[in-house]
Amino acid sequence: MQAIKVSSPDELAKIKDKSLVCRQAYIDGKWVDAASQQHFDIVDPATLETIGSVPDMDASDVKLAVSAATRAFASWKHTTSKERSLLLRKWHDLLVANKDDLARLMTLENGKPLVEAHGEIGYSASFVEWFSEEAKRGYGDIVPSPIPGLRALVMKQPVGVVSIITPYNFPNAMITRKVGAALAAGCTVVVRPAFETPLSALALCELAERAGIPPGVINVVTCSAKNTPAVGLEMTTNPEVRKVSFTGSTAVGKLLMGQASTTMKRVSMELGGNAPFIVFEDADIQRAAESLLQCKFRNAGQTCVSANRIYVHDAVYDEFVGAFTALVKEKLRIGHGLSEGTTIGPMITKRGLDKVEEQVQLAVAAGATVVLGGKRPEAVPGKGYFFEPTVLADVLDAVPMTCEETFGPLCPIYRFTSEDEVIRRANATSVGLAGYFFSRDVARVFRVAEALEVGMVAANTGTIGSDAVPFGGVKESGMGREGSRYGMDDYLNIKLINLSVL
Ligand code: NAD
Repeated sequence: MQAIKVSSPDELAKIKDKSLVCRQAYIDGKWVDAASQQHFDIVDPATLETIGSVPDMDASDVKLAVSAATRAFASWKHTTSKERSLLLRKWHDLLVANKDDLARLMTLENGKPLVEAHGEIGYSASFVEWFSEEAKRGYGDIVPSPIPGLRALVMKQPVGVVSIITPYNFPNAMITRKVGAALAAGCTVVVRPAFETPLSALALCELAERAGIPPGVINVVTCSAKNTPAVGLEMTTNPEVRKVSFTGSTAVGKLLMGQASTTMKRVSMELGGNAPFIVFEDADIQRAAESLLQCKFRNAGQTCVSANRIYVHDAVYDEFVGAFTALVKEKLRIGHGLSEGTTIGPMITKRGLDKVEEQVQLAVAAGATVVLGGKRPEAVPGKGYFFEPTVLADVLDAVPMTCEETFGPLCPIYRFTSEDEVIRRANATSVGLAGYFFSRDVARVFRVAEALEVGMVAANTGTIGSDAVPFGGVKESGMGREGSRYGMDDYLNIKLINLSVL
């Protein structure tokens, strides 16, 4: 553990382009305060120092943003796909050109190590680039009509105004993955970023404005925890909004979907996961251990595709636990994300930290062994939401960390003895986002990939997402797909035009 010597306000002052640190929300192409004139603070989760404040908006501000998006939609939907493509391309180029400042800003409000923040800016920009290209491919169809004398055309049209609500764990990429697709399709958006990480969202707006994206096409409404339910209600029930796209927990997704149903809006829901990570007896153990390190501890375990339940075959259990624990000790250094050498930062919220701590206590009380970590680090008492990377062995199924998403740096490792048994246990959860497994047997690779009840499978790798592949889940992990050639479909309505040639 490195001592925290970083002063968050000093680090914020090192951002070269000061206009990327925005203190106002963005509605109709203008930087604005809340109608109430209220603000709320943003805190560095590593030091608990305040790094700024932004407007604490309410439903009345959302109404203004939705009206602006509705007005802008009237002309944006008539822009050519080429025009939208070029604007998105300019936005992408500005993201890349400003990546150092954007990454520093993200580390300060989210806590992730700077190297990961850089990775996220690249990932975020890749969606804007992808959809700048995809904008040109909103193809329809001509369908052979079964009725004599008719020709049937299927065309795609933008859905309209979209409400977008995003979480704190990827403050930049969760926004561009939605906004890129929406704008490419010809929709306009009202974005409400997580209250922990609004600065990254506002910096994105500043760059969108510089790229020439017209007023009202992107609007960002910021609000605190206190105003979130009212803001969310307006965003999901306002009759001018035609679609809600949400990334976050399953519980909040259900609430928002219920609200959106009152006006029958389309919804996309990217919700929680509980990813199984299975190591079969014929796996490459070192590769599996390295992949787990990669997919478990990114963002201190606060990713929806993070391995949550690690199942290891009895025959290789001890070997795997040894290899993995050695890697965690060697590679992970806790610290402020801006400190040299940090590879794991704090958790973003106290609520998340408390949950992880409680899950460990309950697993240990049920008989699990702490192989590594298991507590808050001692070097930073009272400061920052840090938790040690934790390896737990011989975990029983009947503990909360088996059925709930942990969203923290915990690795519970379970034993299994047969393929059928592990598939049954892996699928024994209400959610289905990502799943990982390791085996050298080609037939088993197909069997297991098909049997796992998830939207995304990684076989012999810890890597899942990119701009080019579809991201999304099944069961209570939600609906819709983001990124890839499927990603724009969620923002397009299909219209049939029947023509008589007689
Ligand atoms: P959360 O559901 O608590 O919050 C998500 C967002 O919704 C936040 O901005 C939050 O402030 C907001 N929110 C909460 N209540 C609201 C309400 N009543 N109205 C409007 N907005 C509301 O989730 P979280 O803990 O912030 O994020 C972590 C969760 O997100 C995890 O479950 C994770 O798996 C999931 N996630 C999923 C994906 C995916 O692509 N499937 C990606 C990232 C995160």
